[in-house]
Amino acid sequence: MTDLLVTNGRVVTQNAAREVIDDGAVAVAGDEIQAVGPAEELAADADRVVDAEGGAVIPGLVNPHTHVSDILLRGSFAEDRGLLDWLYNVKRPGTLAMTVDEHALAATLYCIEAIRAGVTTFVENDTEVVWDDWSTIEAKLDVYDRSGIRNVYGAGMVDRGADPEFQELVRDIQAREPGVDHPPLELFVEETDTVVDEVASLIETHHVPDGRQSVWPAPVVVPTTTNRCFREAYALAEEYDVMTTAHVAEAEAEERRDISSIEYLRNVGYLGERALLGHCVQIDAGDVRLLAKTGTAVAHNFMANMRLATGFAPVVAMHDAGVTVGLGTDNSILSDTVNPLSDARAMAGGHKGFHRDPGVVPAQTAFDMLTIDAAAAIGHADSLGSLEAGKQADLVVVDLDHPHLTPCSDPVFTLVHAAQGFEVDTVICAGEVVMAERELRSFDADVGDVLSRASTAAADLVDRTGFE
Ligand SMILES: [Zn+2]
Repeated sequence: MTDLLVTNGRVVTQNAAREVIDDGAVAVAGDEIQAVGPAEELAADADRVVDAEGGAVIPGLVNPHTHVSDILLRGSFAEDRGLLDWLYNVKRPGTLAMTVDEHALAATLYCIEAIRAGVTTFVENDTEVVWDDWSTIEAKLDVYDRSGIRNVYGAGMVDRGADPEFQELVRDIQAREPGVDHPPLELFVEETDTVVDEVASLIETHHVPDGRQSVWPAPVVVPTTTNRCFREAYALAEEYDVMTTAHVAEAEAEERRDISSIEYLRNVGYLGERALLGHCVQIDAGDVRLLAKTGTAVAHNFMANMRLATGFAPVVAMHDAGVTVGLGTDNSILSDTVNPLSDARAMAGGHKGFHRDPGVVPAQTAFDMLTIDAAAAIGHADSLGSLEAGKQADLVVVDLDHPHLTPCSDPVFTLVHAAQGFEVDTVICAGEVVMAERELRSFDADVGDVLSRASTAAADLVDRTGFE
């Protein structure tokens, strides 16, 4: 029995042969894909039929690295800031000033934007966790659950305070914004055992094996994590059959060791198939080799790297070495959107320009980084990222009937180099229709009302935090 049939579409399967079925269909039973093939062969009587009307039918997009709450701080600060200036003068003070309700509102706004951009799975890195109270975390997880899409909550772990030299550096950066209410630098630092126990119980409470919601241990960055915490995080990932993620080698300022961060992580036992490293911008050929050898995956956050001017991650070298790389949007106030298709366009073009080689990061590779490679990077190559029988029924219909997408001889090329993201028409996750004809079906909330409440809350937040 077929519950749902998506038909009359150009089905971009992303299977091993990267097959595109021009007049194709996808049959869904329960939360799984039952069959993929020519429309005429799958014209079974289904309970519900979605007519793709010649649009592209693609796997639900997987965003392997993002941040949610700071979406309310969009546009509230000058552009001319580096990573530490942005982090310590904008993101930290802003997110710390938010109430639980504001975090939930931010999560709602985030999910609406993500769904409308075709995202069905996202990995949040919550880097500002105060562990004695779970109310903010649980308010956000409740929103994600109601959104109808999949989320991984990366539970931030910090168990090492900044060294005196770094503290002085940050104090000088903060002194430039005397009007901002800066939280104390050590606010997030916990004892190693405490943070490991908290993360373990959060996983036990909210990780749903084979469900839409998961929790991963997420050491925030190398300089604020002890070697024991990295080992414990990896051990937790093994114990609960999840992954672990960390920000690694994003900016030069972090790389103040005698050995590279990648080499350090190898020594402490954090590289391997359960590790997903965000960024990896400041790495060399030896580091790339280590990532490949250990099967460690990378989330490339192109737009954030451009906006904070941290540089070009060696994605081409990673691909050549066989490293699995997914494309993340990173912070919703950096990229500055939650929109994998528009980021892919910039990313593919950006690397060509940087390398002065139009052949690098071809459209198929870029599209893989949003789908099958992103799914592999988060440990779900067997269930997500392509349209194949037996996989989870996460699929998106993109309306190709637009002037800027015409003509379209190769949907993958068009999706990467011309689509903007707003052409996403229908989103299905785990067999449930989350959005149809651009109307959200999962949240009860009226979108206009959410946008207006978010604007009001954001203005109040900016005021309270003391941004100029
Ligand atoms: Zn990040």
